[in-house]
Amino acid sequence: MIKPIPALLYEQSESGRRAAVMPDCDVPESTFPEELLRADLKLPELSEPGVVRYFTQLSQLNFSIDTNFYPLGSCTMKYNPKVNEAMASLPGFLGHHPLQEEMLSQGSLELMYRLQEQLAAVSGFHSVSLQPAAGAQGEFAGISMIRAYHESRGEAHRRRVLIPDSAHGTNPATVTMAGYEPVELPSDANGNVDLQALKEACDDNLAALMITNPNTLGLFEEHIEEVTGTIHEFGGLVYGDGANMNALLGTLRPGDVGIDVMHFNLHKTFSTPHGGGGPGSGPVAAAEILAPFLPGPVVEREAEGGPYSFVTPAQSIGSIKLFYGNFGMNIRAFTYILMHGASGMRELGENAVLNANYLKSRIEKLLPVKYKRNCMHEFVAGGKIEGAEEITTRDIAKRLLDYGMHAPTVYFPLIVKEALMIEPTESENKRTLDAFVEALETIISEAREHPGLLHGAPHEMPLKRLDEVKAVKDLVLCMHP
Ligand SMILES: *Cc1c(COP(=O)(O)O)cnc(C)c1O
Repeated sequence: MIKPIPALLYEQSESGRRAAVMPDCDVPESTFPEELLRADLKLPELSEPGVVRYFTQLSQLNFSIDTNFYPLGSCTMKYNPKVNEAMASLPGFLGHHPLQEEMLSQGSLELMYRLQEQLAAVSGFHSVSLQPAAGAQGEFAGISMIRAYHESRGEAHRRRVLIPDSAHGTNPATVTMAGYEPVELPSDANGNVDLQALKEACDDNLAALMITNPNTLGLFEEHIEEVTGTIHEFGGLVYGDGANMNALLGTLRPGDVGIDVMHFNLHKTFSTPHGGGGPGSGPVAAAEILAPFLPGPVVEREAEGGPYSFVTPAQSIGSIKLFYGNFGMNIRAFTYILMHGASGMRELGENAVLNANYLKSRIEKLLPVKYKRNCMHEFVAGGKIEGAEEITTRDIAKRLLDYGMHAPTVYFPLIVKEALMIEPTESENKRTLDAFVEALETIISEAREHPGLLHGAPHEMPLKRLDEVKAVKDLVLCMHP
């Protein structure tokens, strides 16, 4: 049954209904200043169950990871263990004010310190700053650090940053925002960086390379040490986009293969909630030469057993976020890391890769998969069905919703036509993966026999296919009574 969309709060409103009972007034009454009241502001009036039902019904219209499979690519983590929330809600953390004195904040500082150490250990870097609020801000911090480094050495003329064509859109945006010039690098036939093109693009004005490994095609860069070596030879530095770190956990440390600075997305690798507009966290990790430039403050400890304190690194690019970053996310990531330990971390990275390869081996019999290599935590198929040429990736994605599954990421990365980017993650079992393949098989037969069914999908959702052009041209963001 299609769940109905509840009537708007305004439409359910009845004058005089109340959702709360105010306690008796125990202070002298006075009138509210007239000029602060807005007579034109019509607020809906509902009973308490009315309000609860409205918001509960709305929440049930949402697709959620707590109810269904969500194979969105380029996002990793889909699993948010409930224990993380319990830890982040401990009163000592929750009620802690960021301006509280350091000596009265030792518990929170210790957590930050230990998380910095854990992230450094898992990635092979010298130091970590927890400040950035998301991956994109971590990128901005890292590239700004590279810029500060070159300037400190009198090499401000280095301005070009090489970016493979498989990169996430935030990479060129970051480079531009940091005042640098992005230069696109082609991929070779195997989805690696084209080494010849890399060498040709390097010159004395090279500032850095920004590389994602595994890249957004889900492929491991097979010549990573040759790539980082070439950049260093020309006096550049290497930025590692760590959004796909989930696939490497416990197996490879980016700091060991020539990356100089990278960001983590705690919301993609360490189970903090992702999306919905909630806060993310994008800590940045640096090799020794870049550590003095990290954004601050970071937490340090003068001596074993001594107190923890906030310190701003000597040549810091400055503070890029109010206070210390999204501390609540630090608690969640710390909990997750402690619960898994080092061996558990490796196991979850391996399972993410195993699940993706299992799905790939089944799906490449149904849809074209451009790169014939083993993948890491995700892979990219093309939404082109033999015998149903007019069907697009968008049609397949919309029809999946009718089978109770969220679509994979669509039309990204741009270098694969009609891309469907599929990332099952380590937390899904074989039964769920098989159900996904079966849904795709059904959709493919439908595409050949009843293409109209796919063009009109979704059929079982409370909202039908949206007019995306109208949504862009005539965007309505406010609810009007
Ligand atoms: C998600 C992602 C980013 C951006 O991270 P946000 O936390 O969304 O800002 C950057 N690069 C890659 C490869 C990503 O997948």
